[in-house]
Amino acid sequence: VKGNYVHHLAWYNDSMRNLLIEEQDLLNNVETSLANHEFEIYIQPKCNMKTGLIVGGEVLVRWNHPLKGLIPPTVFIPLFERNGFIKKLDAYVWEQAARWLHQRKQQGLSVLPLSVNVSRSDIFSMDVFAMIKALADKYELDAAWLEIEVTESAYSSRTDEIIQVISQLMNEGFTVSMDDFGSGYSSLNILKDININVLKLDMRFLDNNDRKSKDIVESVVHMAKWLDLKVIAEGVENREQVDFLLGIGCVYAQGFYYYRPMKLTAFEELIRDESKI
Ligand code: C2E
Ligand code: CA
Ligand code: CA
Ligand code: CA
Repeated sequence: VKGNYVHHLAWYNDSMRNLLIEEQDLLNNVETSLANHEFEIYIQPKCNMKTGLIVGGEVLVRWNHPLKGLIPPTVFIPLFERNGFIKKLDAYVWEQAARWLHQRKQQGLSVLPLSVNVSRSDIFSMDVFAMIKALADKYELDAAWLEIEVTESAYSSRTDEIIQVISQLMNEGFTVSMDDFGSGYSSLNILKDININVLKLDMRFLDNNDRKSKDIVESVVHMAKWLDLKVIAEGVENREQVDFLLGIGCVYAQGFYYYRPMKLTAFEELIRDESKI
């Protein structure tokens, strides 16, 4: 028994070490990666399901790693949240978004509101409001063009600080949305304490097709209406989901059924067709 245990421990240590080495590998030269433009902005359009028109887009970052290829944010964002690099990356991503909006305006092209993601650790490590405000000033942006998505789990503790940032942003006219709504245990409680503009329904809501799950989604959509919140469903992948959501009064969606996240150039190409917006 003991030998077996030691063997397992050795195996465990080995795989842990490999994992750590791999992480360390990724984290070693992130500053250089940023400077070398390895991080790239993608946009996923948000749609009005009634009209099929594009109403905005969410900015999602990708890492074009020279050796490892395209790394998804689900892999590197948690690492960066732990080592603190997330604040630099997010500041960079927000600036790319602001600059793009500025260029569109300069060139007299149509402008659609963009949302950017804010990590919980961003809020505690920098003045998110001051930074967003500074970007809007620098790039002469209408506050209505910028939406800030804060994930539901961000509200788990130190809520006073989070409420403070959110109300500053909303007072200035920026849109604030609660991302992944319904993914946690205290979703409803949070709504009692925090004013926001938009609820982004977590995509897991749409996974279950049973009556009870559907009733819950419907109640959430109705509740959002009472609270004067806009609702957008995430992860919409098929026509049945569209029909269901429209049937319960949810009009906005972001999901593969409409569009996958795409490079900025592809997004520009897409919205060049004015009949799509
Ligand atoms: P999120 O903010 O909830 O973003 C939506 C995620 O759902 C995106 O994954 C998107 O590609 C995916 N998605 C959209 N529609 C569908 C669908 O119909 N089906 C399925 N299966 N998935 C869909 P992505 O781009 O891999 O991003 C994952 C997460 O990484 C994001 O979740 C967000 O939490 C984080 N993230 C991405 N970019 C940034 C960023 O610039 N800053 C920060 N702090 N976090 C980011
Ligand atoms: Ca998001
Ligand atoms: Ca989400
Ligand atoms: Ca139009």
